[in-house]
Amino acid sequence: MKPWEKNIRRVTPYVPGEQPAKKDIIKLNTNENPYGPAPGADRALRAFDAERLRLYPDPEAGALVKALADRYGLLPEQVFVGVGSDDVLAMAFLTFFNSKKPILFPDITYSFYSVWAELFRIPFERPALDADFRIRKEDYFRENGGVIFPNPNAPTSLAMGLSDVEDIVSHNRDSVVIVDEAYIDFGGESALPLIEKYENLLVVQTFSKSRSMAGVRIGFAMGSPSLIRALNDVKYSFNSYTMSALSIAAGTAAVEDEAYFKETVERIRKTRERTAERLSALGFVYPEPSANFIFAKKPGLNAKRLFEDLKAEGIYVRYFPGPRTGDYLRITIGTDAQMDALLQFLEQY
Ligand code: PMP
Repeated sequence: MKPWEKNIRRVTPYVPGEQPAKKDIIKLNTNENPYGPAPGADRALRAFDAERLRLYPDPEAGALVKALADRYGLLPEQVFVGVGSDDVLAMAFLTFFNSKKPILFPDITYSFYSVWAELFRIPFERPALDADFRIRKEDYFRENGGVIFPNPNAPTSLAMGLSDVEDIVSHNRDSVVIVDEAYIDFGGESALPLIEKYENLLVVQTFSKSRSMAGVRIGFAMGSPSLIRALNDVKYSFNSYTMSALSIAAGTAAVEDEAYFKETVERIRKTRERTAERLSALGFVYPEPSANFIFAKKPGLNAKRLFEDLKAEGIYVRYFPGPRTGDYLRITIGTDAQMDALLQFLEQY
């Protein structure tokens, strides 16, 4: 090894779901929304004057922050925006998790958490989910350097009740607690009302799922002005112009189109119920889904082989190897027609 090579930061990167170039596949592998973004976002992009790209974007993304603050009944000082919630979460790890004590997150959860912890050299421990894949809140009632969990959790799709979330927050007044609500619009109760009561609670959401805009990369955090100020200080010390002018324009218009948002979320929830029923009829079992995906297995069926056979058929789902996840497939909810194609394949399988 050459001397300079010894100084390279070695990390095992997060592996994102596949984004195949092929057009005619049924893509149920990365929890995207099967419906397009709000018509308002489309109009904002069409009306966007390319001449504006000459200038740097507003470093505060003020229009987007204001639209989100209005939508959620907050002050702009309580809202932080970033390039997808991955960016927001990475900034939050960097900003809030600086203790020598380990941060806590579930053993089965969004796999990016351990990647950031390793990248930023944050010690961590991962309390195990119970046999039914539930987060055991008591596991988080101990000293720690911070807490993070998604609600609903991924890849299980299981939601935790708001009183249990509050129990975790109230037992952790000395560290920052982050609730990653990437999927909350599809089910479960948001912890947002609790930010007025707990200054150390950060709620993170995204435009990638319920707002059909994974391609634009917008995520946001809501919390006390002191948390948001600290996040902004770190962000401005890293890269001040993170949100492109196009993202700000499209994102702001999307937030303003509440009716479209409600309608697509409702369609996906209906398709999820219908898909879940039909999966049950085929002998699949799954934790009660609250997100835009179902984490399902069929006892006796080899999930990895099914994953590959589906892929050969042009139907992409997600498979997570591992002792507790390796029998399951995570299936994103697409349109009714896409789910029918999947179910038809499974019926014949
Ligand atoms: N949190 C969870 C739990 C997720 O599943 C995802 C999607 N990969 C994200 C955050 C990040 O989503 P995005 O960066 O697109 O907002």
